Amino acid sequence: MNLLLLLDEDFIAPTRVRLSGRRLVHAREVLGAKAGDALKVGRLGGGIGSGRVVRMEEDALDLEVTLDQAPPPKLPLTLVLALPRPKVLDRCLQAATALGVARIVLLNAWRVEKAYWTSPKLKPEHIREQLVLGLEQARDTVLPELHLARLFVPFLETDLTELGPGRRLLAHPGATSPCPRGLEEPVILALGPEGGWIAPELGSFARAGFEPVSMGPRILRTETALAALIGRLA
Ligand code: SAH
Repeated sequence: MNLLLLLDEDFIAPTRVRLSGRRLVHAREVLGAKAGDALKVGRLGGGIGSGRVVRMEEDALDLEVTLDQAPPPKLPLTLVLALPRPKVLDRCLQAATALGVARIVLLNAWRVEKAYWTSPKLKPEHIREQLVLGLEQARDTVLPELHLARLFVPFLETDLTELGPGRRLLAHPGATSPCPRGLEEPVILALGPEGGWIAPELGSFARAGFEPVSMGPRILRTETALAALIGRLA
């Protein structure tokens, strides 16, 4: 946690917050915070800045906060991710958020196991926890938008238009074109499931205007491919 993320309900006065639970334990045990120290803080959906410790007790930490900086800008990137297995999903959500992805769509695909869609890890509060961990890691305060697309064909044929304009890229190890570098325009990047995309899915993506791109002949795990591709695009 490189930033204590403050929620509206933490504020006990306009510039004063009271923290307990996970953030208190982190401030005390990891940061070794004591009265007078300045900690890096940010308000969910708002600015970042510092919080001076004015009271540190067993059950509560009070900070006087100054939020005078903007959070880092998001990448103009929508990540369309074939729903990974639950444990991997957590890591992907955290990494995508930390890397600054503006929008994440979790998509069904032929090689996504049906059981993944009923995992408790898809509950809104669990997803939000992963996004918050990503924000705290990267000193950001703005949650990415998150959408669930349980139906592959309707997503590609209709929902996709709601995502607005953007160069459409399909990450596929077998693609002949390399993934482009340093894009300035908005991008919609689709990443496949562990077993990869099947041929009809590749056809649907092609018809929807996605260009297949590769990071080279090595098959990467989803979370590695995600970081490598976003690093290349950013
Ligand atoms: N066995 C599958 C690999 C799936 S890896 C196959 O051969 O297609 C899961 C996803 O990570 C892939 O669908 C792709 O989107 C992405 N990925 C992994 N390695 C990649 C690479 N070298 N280039 C581009 N995308 C890659």
